[in-house]
Amino acid sequence: MIKKIEHIGIAVNDLEEATKTYQVLLNVSPYKTETVKREGVKTVFFECGESKIELLGATRADSPIGKYLSKQKEGIHHIAFFVDDILAEMHRLQSEGFQLLSDEPKPGADGKTIVFMHPKSSHGVLVELCADENEI
Ligand code: ZN
Repeated sequence: MIKKIEHIGIAVNDLEEATKTYQVLLNVSPYKTETVKREGVKTVFFECGESKIELLGATRADSPIGKYLSKQKEGIHHIAFFVDDILAEMHRLQSEGFQLLSDEPKPGADGKTIVFMHPKSSHGVLVELCADENEI
């Protein structure tokens, strides 16, 4: 079941500069910085009420975020929904015709297990489903 918006991912060109900006904007320090080497992304997380803001910077030009930023301006990259049972939700969405970008959930940042959905399935929005890692 989809429970809430877990976070909004924002792709940025300069992670250090963007971190400073969002620290002032949200008036809170980031609670976590994490590099997901396999995905070529460095992330900075801010709490924002019961949701979070995830800043995404590329660690290499050929990573998914690097390619994204070479084609598009920085800005909102994805919306992540928190689900209690990611496998059940993947199954439900696939059976409804939504196209997931992988058949299995994979480890994401911030202790989450994640899967992405193709933006064409959701009117141009890249959707991430995420669950707590220990729920799998
Ligand atoms: Zn995310």
